[in-house]
Amino acid sequence: MKNKNQDELVFLPLGGSNEIGMNLNLYGYGPAHDRKWIVVDVGVTFGDPTTPGVDIIVPDATYAEGLNIEGIVLTHAHEDHIGALGWLWPKMKAPLYATPFTAYLIREKLRDADLLDEVDIRELPLGGTINLGPFEVTLVTITHSIPEPNGLAIKTPLGTVLHTGDWKIDEDPVIGQRTDVDTIRRLGDEGVLAMVCDSTNVFVDGSAGSEAEVRDALQALISTLKGKVAVACFASNVARVDSVVRSAEACGRRVCLVGRSMHRITAAAKSVGLLKDVQEFVSDYEAKSMPADKVLYVCTGSQGEPRAALARIADGSHPQVSLGQGDHCIFSSRVIPGNEIGIGLLQNKLADRGVRLYTERDHPGIHVSGHPCRDELKQMYQWARPQIAVPTHGERRHLLEHCNLAKDMQVPQAVAPRNGEMIRLAPGRAEVIDEVPSGRMYVDGGVLVPAGGEALRERKHAAANGMLFVSVALDRKGKLASDVEVRGLGLPGDEDYSLDDALDELAETAEGALKRLSGEERDDDIAVEKAVARALKKASQHIWDRRPIVETIVLRV
Ligand SMILES: [Zn+2]
Ligand SMILES: [Zn+2]
Repeated sequence: MKNKNQDELVFLPLGGSNEIGMNLNLYGYGPAHDRKWIVVDVGVTFGDPTTPGVDIIVPDATYAEGLNIEGIVLTHAHEDHIGALGWLWPKMKAPLYATPFTAYLIREKLRDADLLDEVDIRELPLGGTINLGPFEVTLVTITHSIPEPNGLAIKTPLGTVLHTGDWKIDEDPVIGQRTDVDTIRRLGDEGVLAMVCDSTNVFVDGSAGSEAEVRDALQALISTLKGKVAVACFASNVARVDSVVRSAEACGRRVCLVGRSMHRITAAAKSVGLLKDVQEFVSDYEAKSMPADKVLYVCTGSQGEPRAALARIADGSHPQVSLGQGDHCIFSSRVIPGNEIGIGLLQNKLADRGVRLYTERDHPGIHVSGHPCRDELKQMYQWARPQIAVPTHGERRHLLEHCNLAKDMQVPQAVAPRNGEMIRLAPGRAEVIDEVPSGRMYVDGGVLVPAGGEALRERKHAAANGMLFVSVALDRKGKLASDVEVRGLGLPGDEDYSLDDALDELAETAEGALKRLSGEERDDDIAVEKAVARALKKASQHIWDRRPIVETIVLRV
């Protein structure tokens, strides 16, 4: 029989292991009844057209409440790794550990959430080590698409876990240091028990490519262009912004930043010494009066986000920036799955204005991914030589293909957990030993609600089917005191049969339904509401072939 007091090392993803995004990883050490924990990353994912009104989705962290958490380590400052702190930190209440650039952006996030005074943020240097109970955590410098990306070497008495974070191998990352191959190799020599690794690009052959190649490609392209130039990219990719700025300078253009996050993140970058030796940026107001050939805009909104700078420029509603005939827009970004429709709309609007478009599809080289492709993954397995591969940061198909790749690389064991599955990494064979509550929580109107909750369901139903509002006034005898009134929302009519005609018919239908009720039923508001709803839904099915939400207000006069 298993010894209940035996120490175990466990890994538990609560997010990021069914999707790319929303990363929330827990490591536990100790006997089952008395584990100490560390949390790695607390990220969000974003809503889409299936979640109207919900922009931000966070992992269900109920299980983390009440755990003995020694610390929360943030690998880097992408939203899918730190974005949920404002929502979920209060459930964990442990000190945060991050490098300076990440810490700067975390502070802003916590300030927005009114938590800054409560949270203990401890800055770590690149390559720094911290002791968190039974865990000794050392940052391992890697390359990615944001400043200061870190992997983690997590040492425990039962073995070392290499948690890669988001990474790629970039020989010339433009800013920051190269991947610390020596440390990863040395960890491999000493013995890596398990590697928990990024799966984003497991279906992409070859290598992601270097940021320096993007710099060359952008400069070559921009140097050929006359008229205004706008470049859309992620603000957090400071190396990319730096490349765009230097390309602009080489072509005699001044740079104007457009979009709130562009200003926010360049300020964070400057606070850690990046973007220092470049010309001052010009404001959008100054840029307006400069010759078209002398200005270059760096914009947010490459994913078609409707409120971002580029969408407003495309709509012609940006107060200072306009693009038109003879101007150019370079998308130095990829299409994130789910955003195709929004990006298509945005690009069509720009094209309609006469703006020429450049994307990575027709101009390969103006963007590279920040995640490892297959050759890079293989290289990492050769360096780290783990006993157990634990793919993360992917959908189901990514994780399972990553297991196949690990087996091809002679890794003895590969386990792909789902969110909520607790895996014992040691002692013994790696396997799922428990399943804990997990899932998605929606940030809906400032409130955290479970996915699949009532409010969003009703909103979607109303969006697809419309609504009817009915007012019924009954006297003391339960008789109608006045005509039933019906109003419609989101329901169509035409010349032959107008919406008013339909509503009149529905009012009569409601009156008929009320007359059929017994005196006792008419005294009961709920019975009245139910009868009206049933009758109007049936009639609506006949009129519009749909079943709107029916809201009845019963007045007793
Ligand atoms: Zn990520
Ligand atoms: Zn990332």
